[in-house]
Amino acid sequence: MKISELSEKVSLLLSDTEDGGFDGMCILEDIGGITRERAALHPDDELHDSICARVIEAANKRKIGYPLQYILGQWEFYGLRFRVGEGVLIPRPDTEALAEEAIGRIKKRGADSPRIIDLCSGSGCIAVTLAKLIEGSEVFAVELSGEAFPYLTDNIRSNDARVTVIRGDISDGRLLDNFRDEDGEIFPVDCIVSNPPYLTSEEMAELQTEVEFEPEIALFGGNDGLKFYRIITCLWKELLTEGGLLIFEIGNDQESAVTDILINEGFGDIFTAPDATGAIRVVGGYYLG
Ligand code: GLN
Repeated sequence: MKISELSEKVSLLLSDTEDGGFDGMCILEDIGGITRERAALHPDDELHDSICARVIEAANKRKIGYPLQYILGQWEFYGLRFRVGEGVLIPRPDTEALAEEAIGRIKKRGADSPRIIDLCSGSGCIAVTLAKLIEGSEVFAVELSGEAFPYLTDNIRSNDARVTVIRGDISDGRLLDNFRDEDGEIFPVDCIVSNPPYLTSEEMAELQTEVEFEPEIALFGGNDGLKFYRIITCLWKELLTEGGLLIFEIGNDQESAVTDILINEGFGDIFTAPDATGAIRVVGGYYLG
């Protein structure tokens, strides 16, 4: 098959897919190794059957709503590259708002080597970004899922980031022992950041097709979506220094509920930040001790 014929076939397959043109181009480039330049300059080049088969298979998967990011096996977050696949949440632009807010606020606090914990780390996009962008930082990434964990460790390595991984359930208080010395004294932490699972039962029942392919463990935050905000705030605040920062990504309309949780657990100077669409996506506060 010629390049032009394959391109046309892919366009046709993805004609009803939102952003199908872009997705088709990514598939041709990444899966077929056919750059845009080559397609424009050498449309009559003959392609090997196996390449065409791989590209068409990928386009067919995309056509039924399988996420482009899983097909490509990688995605960009904050200018860094992350390996992704089934079993790990795809890094989203929404979460870049969380990373940006956290970076700004941690730098403003001015600790020489800020100690940061990222809970429910998934692909590690937040932990790695913070480690890369905050000089001297000491970052810990906590993740429970055995499927997500290899992506986390891989992404730390491929980005050459200084992040220590901890495998475990954030609702298990014994995990905090990782931050205590032999006498039980705490190594104080400057910031805890998290994009926990936060979708409600109702939202889980009406997921977009693409999101249905993503792991439920990374999405579902209990009936009201707030389960992990309660656990993290109540349990993990013990590690924060006085004035330490706790900062969350939140779901739609969770601003006031999460603010209440923070205030009830002894946090002040509550702040929020919007994502690129203008929706409030970040809530945080400082531990008053
Ligand atoms: N932002 C994701 C979504 O809207 C949810 C991820 C999460 O629960 N942290 O699908």
